[in-house]
Amino acid sequence: MAVFDEVAREGHEQILYGYDKVSGLKTIIAIHSTALGPALGGTRFFPYESEKDALEDVLRLSRGMTYKAAAAGLDLGGGKAVIIGDPRTDKSERLLRAYGRIVDSLQGRYITAEDMGTTTTDMDIIRRETRWAFGNSVAEGGSGDPSPVTARGLFTAARAVAELIWGDADLAQRRFAIQGVGKVGSAFVQLLVEARAEVIVTDAYEPAIAAAVETYGVKSVVPEDIHAVDCDIFSPCARGAGLNESTIAQLNCQAIVGSANNQLATDEDADRIAQRGIVYAPDFVVNAGGLINVYDELHGYSKMRALHRVDGIFDATKTILEMSKREGINPNQAAVRVAENRIKDIGDLRRFRRSGDDRN
Ligand code: NAD
Repeated sequence: MAVFDEVAREGHEQILYGYDKVSGLKTIIAIHSTALGPALGGTRFFPYESEKDALEDVLRLSRGMTYKAAAAGLDLGGGKAVIIGDPRTDKSERLLRAYGRIVDSLQGRYITAEDMGTTTTDMDIIRRETRWAFGNSVAEGGSGDPSPVTARGLFTAARAVAELIWGDADLAQRRFAIQGVGKVGSAFVQLLVEARAEVIVTDAYEPAIAAAVETYGVKSVVPEDIHAVDCDIFSPCARGAGLNESTIAQLNCQAIVGSANNQLATDEDADRIAQRGIVYAPDFVVNAGGLINVYDELHGYSKMRALHRVDGIFDATKTILEMSKREGINPNQAAVRVAENRIKDIGDLRRFRRSGDDRN
């Protein structure tokens, strides 16, 4: 596999492979950019079919983290890690601690947190070997599960979209179709129901639908029908790449605001959505709540400060959608431009070294 060709394509800074024979740990850490600060991104524990798949995923995800942090105005770069294996059967204290030692070897250039297949409890274990693990449990002084905070960010983004489209941020009586009622989706449903919005949900896991219907009194459809639901806002909160030529053609909404990472199957799908007259609120802008929450832990966690910053997603969403309109580009291109401009402007400041920086 031509690893350097893969790395050169997206301009990554560093890739670290880690292995521990005793526990079977196989990990790849990718640092895409440290222009704005240390590269923060979660650890994905997933049974990749091949090392090539794992490398491709970590390169793609770490690059996404650079844009997410930059667009959210954080002093963070972008990184991500993958552990190859089945989290249900391959996870052990030894494996997590071995992984923690590898993270530690980067001396804070990469900061880890939870992601698919890892939990706050895992972060507590990893932290026994490195201080560069966040998203710790509340009992250990961390910020706990970020999902409700991510949902709060979605809610504020939906309000911004509503103000732009309908001239009123109030979501009462607005119709939402939510694809995926897991940790983020169900917390989002709760906020919407409290705001007196009308909600229709689906999930690939039938008990998750039943729980949402019973807890919140919402309606449901089978997963295949969710894109076509007549609604104001469609919200993808399941897996990535769900918006493609075929699903976009089915949409019956005026806007898209959801938590799933990498919602667009291809870059062209942002144009397809725009051509249908649908407003797309870019995923990495509206789902930054969890990252913002973890970022706050770096400074000694203050929930109030974290939520205040998450509420900034309202203005960030509006700025990007207004820029998209003004400049005749799709919202995804506008969001990438905002992030790249900030990386260029602020990242460049580092040439002014502070006294003491040489010690690091
Ligand atoms: P989760 O695993 O708790 O929930 C996902 C839900 O989607 C599950 O209930 C699953 O059954 C369902 N699902 C999967 N495929 C589906 C399909 N094809 N149709 C309908 N439902 C389907 O995950 P989560 O933490 O709620 O995250 C949801 C999405 O948001 C993910 O893409 C994640 O990467 C992204 N995200 C999460 C956070 C966070 O704070 N948890 C932050 C940023 C982004």
